[in-house]
Amino acid sequence: MRILILGGTTEASHLARLLADDDRFGATLSLAGRTAAPKQQPLPARVGGFGGIAGLEAWLRENDIAAVIDATHPYAAQISAHAVAACNALAIPLGSIARAPWKREDGDSWIEVESPEAAASALGSTPARVFLSIGRQELAAFAAAPQHHYVARTIDSPDVALPPDIRFVHDRGPFDVAAEEAFLAQERIDMIVSKNSGGAATYPKIVASRRLRLPVIMISRPHKAQGAVLESPADAMRWLDAQLAHGASSSRRGV
Ligand code: NAP
Repeated sequence: MRILILGGTTEASHLARLLADDDRFGATLSLAGRTAAPKQQPLPARVGGFGGIAGLEAWLRENDIAAVIDATHPYAAQISAHAVAACNALAIPLGSIARAPWKREDGDSWIEVESPEAAASALGSTPARVFLSIGRQELAAFAAAPQHHYVARTIDSPDVALPPDIRFVHDRGPFDVAAEEAFLAQERIDMIVSKNSGGAATYPKIVASRRLRLPVIMISRPHKAQGAVLESPADAMRWLDAQLAHGASSSRRGV
């Protein structure tokens, strides 16, 4: 059974490892191409956009795909909407791995905002030292708040307009709490800007902020269209098994 995994996340890499040794499935992993040197994957990968819904539909048809798993990042809403539309149009089953958001705990001081622009404005007018931990695509929003000193952690350098006083730390998760706490203290950070990505890999900065009593400006999740909701890569494997069984029984019945 030929399947497509829309990836770029820890869950997609985990699912790729589960599928690599399972010869019942011929899986392709699709990456947006946001990082210059993506992690090595145990499955054939394709990189870059499909060209909208029509492009994705054409790719699914040409590659005879029988099921799709959307394992994209919680903030990658457009590709998920495209996956729902293309799979509906072609009647291809779609399963979506939904990563749970982090929940505010005692001691957390979160200011929830709707967008990177709202986060820049929530930083206030008094110059502050700000840790930007939101990836690189939306950093341009902070050019509107040039009074702050920013430390931005990204995998690659951005190619967008930036605030004048910004320094980059290039790194990728997973991170650990002690190192995050030491980093925030050493940089004398006053405020953190984060997405509510969920998962364990980048949660240590939230724990470190709690311990240091630092406010976190949390950019809310976008609405993400979904197929069948799957909780984990293991759940996705069970769902794929069911699709395979259903496909086999349909073909026995001549459906
Ligand atoms: P997006 O806004 O959902 O997608 C924009 C376009 O990128 C899609 O329409 C599609 O292009 C292409 N695309 C996205 N994911 C793809 C995939 N897995 N395979 C092939 N093409 C893909 O997503 P985004 O622009 O990548 O990111 C939006 C937000 O998610 C950002 O805030 C980013 O920080 C966060 N994020 C994304 C990733 C990632 O791997 N993409 C990882 C971590 C965080 P076509 O319309 O041409 O098909």
